[in-house]
Amino acid sequence: MSNTTPELSVVVPCYNEQEVIRLTHERLCAALRKITRDFEILYVDDGSRDATARMLADIHHADESVRVVRLSRNFGHQIAVSAGLDSASGDAVVVIDADLQDPPETIAALVAKWREGYDVVYAQRTERAGESHFKRWTASAFYRFINRLSEVPIPLDTGDFRLMDRRVVAAMKAMPERHRLLRAMTSWVGFRQASVPYERAERAAGETKYPLRKMFALAMDGITSFSVIPLRLVTFAGLIFSGLSVAAIGYALVLRLLTDNWVPGWTLSFIATMLIAGLNFLFLGVMGEYIGRIYSEVKARPMFLVMERLGFDNPEASRNPVADQLAVIAERVNAA
Ligand code: UDP
Ligand code: MG
Repeated sequence: MSNTTPELSVVVPCYNEQEVIRLTHERLCAALRKITRDFEILYVDDGSRDATARMLADIHHADESVRVVRLSRNFGHQIAVSAGLDSASGDAVVVIDADLQDPPETIAALVAKWREGYDVVYAQRTERAGESHFKRWTASAFYRFINRLSEVPIPLDTGDFRLMDRRVVAAMKAMPERHRLLRAMTSWVGFRQASVPYERAERAAGETKYPLRKMFALAMDGITSFSVIPLRLVTFAGLIFSGLSVAAIGYALVLRLLTDNWVPGWTLSFIATMLIAGLNFLFLGVMGEYIGRIYSEVKARPMFLVMERLGFDNPEASRNPVADQLAVIAERVNAA
């Protein structure tokens, strides 16, 4: 494979997508050929346990515009996309799901905006076919909630289907955190952003790899990595309840010292005890969410491990962006 960098890279994270991956590749190629002749497709196999890895290898052997990065295990969607960004060399990089929910034909509109001079072009859903009311409702509630908390606005109804200019990708690579919500990170980087409306289709085949548990984890990562407001709320609530406790103590003492009326009051003390106990656990939980993340960031483990790379000049190179990042920091510290 030649060494020159393509105009367009398309990153496709795949986890157990054997039912759909060939169809996806066909439609993706057809759509891309209409846009440019100079593209690469980068499939990231996120530790699939079905035939996906073998099928991707076949697709690579038949089509030299295809590169494959195979992770050593299932690291999760956001990390798989990050691994793809890490190996993508195009002037613009598009991230798209493997299940054809994001129509490849929409890429033309993303690229057109990029050619107009935008750095981030995100596809915004007008329609969510084939998704349950529950998923729509939770997704919409999540975006509204996180936007109230977050320091940067996250556009409503967007997923990870988007185009990024090379310098945005460089900025993303410089963010080594392991708990990632990529759609919020691309908003954080700034530059010139634009949106393109699209209709989100039904999954072409197979079933969702995002059960409720993973959706919840993604939501928590989004909130904790873009806001410390939950911690601040805890402090405020703590202050309020401390104030109330002082008042309650004063009240109890007045009753005890100045009246004979001090056996009743069990109701109040019971309610107060329950309330404070409940709040204590809640607050500890919120602290724990942050501390757990600090712990996993401090360990500074590689974000992902690559088992195999197909279609690269240096297939053996095991890319570890976090280690690269730490090396750069260490160099700077030593130079200072
Ligand atoms: N995916 C992945 N790793 C995972 C889960 C999902 O790479 O651990 C990929 C999956 O193959 C698909 C994309 O992420 O290309 C979105 O997943 P899915 O379609 O299952 O999520 P949904 O659209 O139902 O939210
Ligand atoms: Mg999907």
